[in-house]
Amino acid sequence: MDLKSNEPFWLVKNGLLASYPSLHHDEVCDVLIVGGGITGTLIAHQCIQDGYNTLLIDKREICNGSTSATTSMLQYEIDRPLHELSELIGKDGAVASYRACCKAIDDLGRIAKKIKSDAGFRQKKSLYYAAWKKDVNKLKKEFEARKEAGFKVAWMEAEDIRHQYGILGAHGGILSQEGGSVDAFRLAHEILQYNARKGLRIYDKTELTGVDYKRGFNLCTTATGTTIKAKRVVYCTGYEVANVIPEKFVDLLSTFAIVSEVNEEMYRQYNDILIWNTAAPYLYMRTTDDGRFLIGGEDEEFQDPPRRDALIGVKEQRLLRAFHRIFPDKEFCLDFTWAGTFGETKDGLPYIGEHQNFKNSYFVCGFGGNGITFSVTGMGMVSNWLQSKEHPLSMYFKFGR
Ligand SMILES: Cc1cc2nc3c(=O)[nH]c(=O)nc-3n(C[C@H](O)[C@H](O)[C@H](O)COP(=O)(O)OP(=O)(O)OC[C@H]3O[C@@H](n4cnc5c(N)ncnc54)[C@H](O)[C@@H]3O)c2cc1C
Repeated sequence: MDLKSNEPFWLVKNGLLASYPSLHHDEVCDVLIVGGGITGTLIAHQCIQDGYNTLLIDKREICNGSTSATTSMLQYEIDRPLHELSELIGKDGAVASYRACCKAIDDLGRIAKKIKSDAGFRQKKSLYYAAWKKDVNKLKKEFEARKEAGFKVAWMEAEDIRHQYGILGAHGGILSQEGGSVDAFRLAHEILQYNARKGLRIYDKTELTGVDYKRGFNLCTTATGTTIKAKRVVYCTGYEVANVIPEKFVDLLSTFAIVSEVNEEMYRQYNDILIWNTAAPYLYMRTTDDGRFLIGGEDEEFQDPPRRDALIGVKEQRLLRAFHRIFPDKEFCLDFTWAGTFGETKDGLPYIGEHQNFKNSYFVCGFGGNGITFSVTGMGMVSNWLQSKEHPLSMYFKFGR
């Protein structure tokens, strides 16, 4: 599957941070992690911390899937508003899912600190504003639901948003204290290097091609002609998992992002906030750790890479126009534009759990706008399951729900 266009900003910014050998001998491990994006990396970090003999493979270069294209907003706010999610799955599950994302931001910050990361992890506030007058009542309902559930939120009137953040066209919004951003591509590389020093074996350009389920272990075969005997397999294969699971559980879309040249004025004013809105598809903005301004959105409901990439010029202009509508007096000197595949689920929640067709295995599929925070939550879930313990979120994130 083609997951991204050329020139995602993070790949150009960071270059080839590390490259690993492909696998040319047979291996044995406790846990085989398939996929070396941010998800596989985090799961590997957990497995090494828990003392498992762990091996990670990726069919591409490490972190060259969606993790190189992500815009890496770290949000507790799930694509489904809390009040809607509560109606869909019940209040307990909805609040627990939102809380898990909140905790995930702090957990990721702790990991970044522990490994002495240079990937610009930063806690930020988050402003979710009504793009249209008609959205205000729904947003106020959402504000009440979050306040009642104990999240640190404040309601901002249109006037306050204009005054404090210089945003035109907002009709009111929810200001949350919890949020963050990071360069996920760099962070994933750093986590792998940290764990490689602790015994994690990493092989890139090594595709998993088949699995034979034996009593108590999986015999995995790779495109490099080797076998890996693994007690457990954790699939962290991103959106390509849609090609592996027989039933349809995720809608694949195309999404677009642009990044400006370094802009000190925008950086100073917006470095502590994530901004997104209620438009459909929604528009979102953040600064990068190297002083640029990033805008993403303009999703299209298809996953067709040539068609997606042919739209890049048009989408770039639309995102630029949106910027100038919101910030008419500010400058945006365009530097990078890219497109990527994106996955949405029916309830905005990830699929993290077992699948009946895959024995001795778990899937960690952090989909939607919270892909990264869901993957952090997946660490604790996989850790519990490997110790034969339940996890309270399993029932909300499971396949076939
Ligand atoms: C433009 C864009 C903006 C986004 N913005 C945000 C955001 O602001 N916040 C957020 O949280 N999320 C966001 N996302 C989503 C986020 O990027 C993803 O959730 C995340 O990158 C997924 O990471 P991953 O490791 O699961 O997948 P990937 O990074 O795609 O990694 C999966 C890896 O598995 C490997 N693989 C697949 N099959 C095999 C196989 N058979 N054998 C070996 N290896 C295999 C692939 O080569 C790949 O490297 C965005 C995504 C895009 C495209």
